Amino acid sequence: MTIAEPVYTAGGPALPQERRLVTSIPGPRSAELAARKRNAVAAGVGTTMPVYATAAGGGVVVDVDGNSLIDLGSGIAVTGVGNAHPGVVKAIAEQAERATHTCFMVTPYEGYVAVAEALNRLTPGEHAKRSALFNSGAEAVENAVKIARAHTGRQAVVAFDHAYHGRTNLTMALTAKSMPYKKGFGPFAPEVYRAPVSYPFRDGGMSGPDAARAAISRIETQVGADQLAAIIIEPILGEGGFIVPAEGFLTTLARWARENGVVFIADEVQTGFARTGRMFASEHEAIVPDLVTTAKGIAGGMPLSAVTGRAEMMDAVHGGGLGGTYGGNPVACAAALAAIDAFENDGLCEAAERIGEVITRRFGEIAGSDPRVGDVRGRGAMIAVEFVKPSTGEPDAALAARVAASAHTQGVIVLTCGTFGNVIRFLPPLTIPLELLVEGIDIVATALRDAAHDAGT
Ligand SMILES: *Cc1c(COP(=O)(O)O)cnc(C)c1O
Repeated sequence: MTIAEPVYTAGGPALPQERRLVTSIPGPRSAELAARKRNAVAAGVGTTMPVYATAAGGGVVVDVDGNSLIDLGSGIAVTGVGNAHPGVVKAIAEQAERATHTCFMVTPYEGYVAVAEALNRLTPGEHAKRSALFNSGAEAVENAVKIARAHTGRQAVVAFDHAYHGRTNLTMALTAKSMPYKKGFGPFAPEVYRAPVSYPFRDGGMSGPDAARAAISRIETQVGADQLAAIIIEPILGEGGFIVPAEGFLTTLARWARENGVVFIADEVQTGFARTGRMFASEHEAIVPDLVTTAKGIAGGMPLSAVTGRAEMMDAVHGGGLGGTYGGNPVACAAALAAIDAFENDGLCEAAERIGEVITRRFGEIAGSDPRVGDVRGRGAMIAVEFVKPSTGEPDAALAARVAASAHTQGVIVLTCGTFGNVIRFLPPLTIPLELLVEGIDIVATALRDAAHDAGT
């Protein structure tokens, strides 16, 4: 395979861009820290890998034992601009020296306003917009629902099968998957309803408009359009398995929402900021959502989230009705402005496209000869491989877990996902050198080849 030059490699503090294992994984220092974690950190806070990080940049994470790991996860789609991006680091340091917090609701500051202006400019649609800033993706989703309810005077909210919207009470209700997100944590927020989503690999290839009509029929019969404040959907369903709805699904839903006075919320917390090869995934089908929620990639790793939307909807909330002590923290805003500058000017959308082509080509080839690879899908640097039992087509979560575990011991950070746990997802930093990406996916591909086929398949 010929490898084009990386589009962009902000290496951060000159970390060698290489996989280098100097101990077994985990090494002794990580093992010590894992023991301390068991005694100090709540057991419910899990970790994908038992290695403890000390530095990261470009496409690597370095651990406390000196191992350099290939990063195919970006801390769950957060470090799109690369870890410790130099511009982000500089912006954080400069802002932190001036002020770390004054509270925007007490004595506001320019950075918050500038982030709102940038989001209003960058999100889909040319209409007048407003933004409000928060700390986490879940908090943004909660606030989008508050805004939709205030604007419509209605209460019901529809989310979809395989949806993930967070871990707070309302967002748990919106999230589809019980284990590990909801089990034992009810009762959940009321007035949340669920509709079927287009899942081309598992719905017999139903057309997007047909799948949307099925969802709309469910909503009209079980909720009633006139009761419905909002529908919320991820343009590519992230934790649910990187499900790309068939073309026409999102556009049909968005049109129905508009015709019925229902607020269409695109949850772009995972898909936003160049991840899918466009600034926002809604752009692939020219969707113009009423409200967009953003977080993860927005600030190069600093906690920040936002709701951006139509001015008349955003401004429907009474003064003082939105906010929070830390929402739009000045250091996080400075980081976001630097990250947004990188997203716009450093060719990161093109980098995402190229990353996607490399991964899709490689696993597409494997899918042709290995029937355990049921589907390879996604857009840009958000690509997933769904594993199945060849004889039945049933999800094979054990295989996904074995492949991921094997990659981990070889120094590749890779994540699983999917309602059935049978999906490996690739979310590399958009700054990863392509050689390193190729080495990382080679290791995953070899782990798959070497993983024993299940008995009887
Ligand atoms: C991660 C995620 C959230 C929740 O974000 P947090 O910052 O973890 O609260 C919400 N929606 C989507 C689509 C996500 O991927």
